[in-house]
Amino acid sequence: MSSSEDDFDESDAFPEDYRLKGYRIVVPQEEGIVGLRPDSLHSSGGELAGNIKEAICPNCGTPLFPVFKLNFAADARLQSLNLWEGDFLQLLRCFVCFLEHYVYWTYFKEDSVEIIGGCRSEPPHILPGVQLPYLCRPIQLTELTECDYPSSEKLLAALDQKRPLHQIGGLPFRGKYMFVSPNCAKCDQPMQFAGVIDDEDYNVYCYDSEGFYCTLIIGDLDSLYFYTCKACMGIAFKFIY
Ligand SMILES: [Zn+2]
Ligand SMILES: [Zn+2]
Repeated sequence: MSSSEDDFDESDAFPEDYRLKGYRIVVPQEEGIVGLRPDSLHSSGGELAGNIKEAICPNCGTPLFPVFKLNFAADARLQSLNLWEGDFLQLLRCFVCFLEHYVYWTYFKEDSVEIIGGCRSEPPHILPGVQLPYLCRPIQLTELTECDYPSSEKLLAALDQKRPLHQIGGLPFRGKYMFVSPNCAKCDQPMQFAGVIDDEDYNVYCYDSEGFYCTLIIGDLDSLYFYTCKACMGIAFKFIY
């Protein structure tokens, strides 16, 4: 019998030159700032960047939460990933309902966001509501390294200990099926893998309508993968479990 280390599927290996081109998104433990944007280049929560006033969840009517707002225009590292042409890449999800349980697309226009797809369930609410405006926190990017692409079950387990593993760029680190990208809902072309919003992060939070603190939870160690179509200014979100 082979050892557990030998059971690792080598066909999941990545092209050496490509896999490291990405960044881990880290949300430091810091108090949020209500209604203000921190000086940080990149941030989580708060108001939407640019000319967009709001993006409303089509399932429950709540303003979507900007999990990450990445300032591509001001960061050459992000521009080199070749994933987005807009000034800001803004990753929006609903804190209140199950919208993300089916693939959904967000398309960015000059001053609005169009949302296509997603779960439209009844009853949609998992929270009674959220306190607005959302708090804003600075976030940091650290370059992906070899350790972020484990080559054995042992190294994979070690990486698992470091969750949440949010990511911009690079590739998913487990399972070939994760290479299957959704098609763009506008142009019908396969979208490009662009990163991961990982499960539970205690540093990404808001308050519900009764004042209770809620953290970013995607599911039981599940993730939300996101994909971009540069031509259509679209981002797709796919629930991975
Ligand atoms: Zn919703
Ligand atoms: Zn497209």
